[in-house]
Amino acid sequence: MVTKWHWDQGRLNYFQFENLKAIAHCLQKLEGVVINQKDFDPLRAELESYTGLPFAPKSYRVWRNYKRVFECSFLATTINSQLYVTDFCKKIAASGAKKIDVDEFLSLFIPRFRFPFAAFTDYKKSDNLVYPFCAVLKYLISNFQLGKQTNISLEDVFSVIIGNNCTGLEPIEHYTKLKATKYKPDGDETRQVREMMIFISQLSILKWYKGALYLDISAKDFEDYNGFQHLTNPMYKEPKQIREEEYLSMTSLTGQIVYPFKLQSREIPTDDIFIEGKRTRVTHIKIERSPLLRRLFFDKYPDTVCDMCVCDTTQRYPWTDNLLEVHHILPLSSSLSITGEGTSLNDVVGLCPNCHKSVHTYYKNWLNKYKVDDFRSRNEAKEIYYQAKTSIVL
Ligand SMILES: [Zn+2]
Ligand SMILES: [Zn+2]
Repeated sequence: MVTKWHWDQGRLNYFQFENLKAIAHCLQKLEGVVINQKDFDPLRAELESYTGLPFAPKSYRVWRNYKRVFECSFLATTINSQLYVTDFCKKIAASGAKKIDVDEFLSLFIPRFRFPFAAFTDYKKSDNLVYPFCAVLKYLISNFQLGKQTNISLEDVFSVIIGNNCTGLEPIEHYTKLKATKYKPDGDETRQVREMMIFISQLSILKWYKGALYLDISAKDFEDYNGFQHLTNPMYKEPKQIREEEYLSMTSLTGQIVYPFKLQSREIPTDDIFIEGKRTRVTHIKIERSPLLRRLFFDKYPDTVCDMCVCDTTQRYPWTDNLLEVHHILPLSSSLSITGEGTSLNDVVGLCPNCHKSVHTYYKNWLNKYKVDDFRSRNEAKEIYYQAKTSIVL
């Protein structure tokens, strides 16, 4: 019997890391509230104002329609009709020195998420254990090690991973021998699994592009992060009989070995653009150095004009091909945006190496001045980028 993979569908935007953070921040304040109150939705007004998201349709309780978003992302569940907020929720809502970025969040999430999943109504303790995200990552990493193509299409997730009943618990070598099966998804399985893949594509080493999930790493990153083992080793805990107990156990961070992405193996990569930060900017570095992102960006915007100083680098240096670097405008700790189409290039610009270095210096000065370690919102990040851009003396 093949284990079917379930998720949510149609609310992808709510799974964006920045939105999850705002949701977590809000839910934390509402902890313990009774969800099913007569004629009153205790979540709607608060969530709408914290996140700026509509939580449509208005005629339904937020919990009724968005329960899966909260539960699948490990933020909250209900126990006896009261809102229960998880360790994950508190961690993702944290600010200041305790703040985590998308890589840290997903590296705690990926090894824990498994089927049977306690938030789904068909939860049965005795069902086969499957760690879907670990399985997909093992497949990608095993191919990377063999020097093969490092992407997996949605069709292959079904035919190769689900069809072979992969659990994510097998040794990585297992994944090099998998053959395609005849397994075909039915009903809304396709959409659900697609959204699972897009959700994890927020990890800085993954990208979603044209219906496939790409592992986008350099050999050096692979070595530095010890083969990303912290992402592929399922965190096993005995499943609990009772749904609520299982959910709490799965989303608990205390008394566990945690493997934050950043601290896995070695020190912060040194890079003169980034050494300013008190905290690492690993996510940001991985995004800006991503070979795939670079390719996607310049395929779409082939101009070699710097967004800041408007120098056309191939005109000025006719013997060069393309000197521009990709710069990600959003807060240093945030992921690339995801859309149904794939990795969004909206908040990425091409900068010449001088401008790129100088804009990060501008950031550093600004962050120091306001004694913060990152921009507090997308708008703030955009505003500071714009300030730097308009402060150039041409
Ligand atoms: Zn420039
Ligand atoms: Zn940059």
